Amino acid sequence: MSLSRETVEAGVQRLRMRNWRGTAVGYEVSAYLLDDVLVDTGFAHARASMLEAVDALRPRGVIVTHSHEDHAGNVPALAATGLPMVMHDACEAELRAHPSIRLYRRVVWGRTPTLGQAIEPFDASPLAVVAAPGHSGDHLVVWDAERRILVSGSRVVTATAAEIFIAKPWATDDIRDVLDQLQRARARASRTEPPSGWDDITPVE
Ligand SMILES: [Zn+2]
Repeated sequence: MSLSRETVEAGVQRLRMRNWRGTAVGYEVSAYLLDDVLVDTGFAHARASMLEAVDALRPRGVIVTHSHEDHAGNVPALAATGLPMVMHDACEAELRAHPSIRLYRRVVWGRTPTLGQAIEPFDASPLAVVAAPGHSGDHLVVWDAERRILVSGSRVVTATAAEIFIAKPWATDDIRDVLDQLQRARARASRTEPPSGWDDITPVE
């Protein structure tokens, strides 16, 4: 298991997590640090590295994009350190329910421990947190209007690109325009390949 930190641009770091199991199936997972806000927590097998990174980086809070085990795998561990978190209600419910996951996912990423502790929310502004169901019903994307960066835990636009974790820069500083563009891209993509479970993108507010 390795966790490397890369600076994407000033104030934006990518925390890249790889293990041999994930590499074997062609996957790696990233979390991002936007100034002092961590987006996603990686997978359970990366717990020690993630706790170390958090200890070094001292984020003021965590936004969890969705409940899948490669992004929310260390929510319980980070919640136990007292870090406040923002996530979709359905994400929190999922993490508390501890549903079973498919075997290969458990082998590759590890099993997310059941979330037992209370979650303290925090005000993530100036970052905007927007519901974008599709990849999962509890999917949130994070919009950094100042930098015009959209961070999504997993794919934002299916079919055109396999995985867009971070997309920038956008020619607008309005998240609604971005979501509009994503929807149009999705519509284009769906003409050649069916979208995989995308529902309409609905801003939270
Ligand atoms: Zn996912």
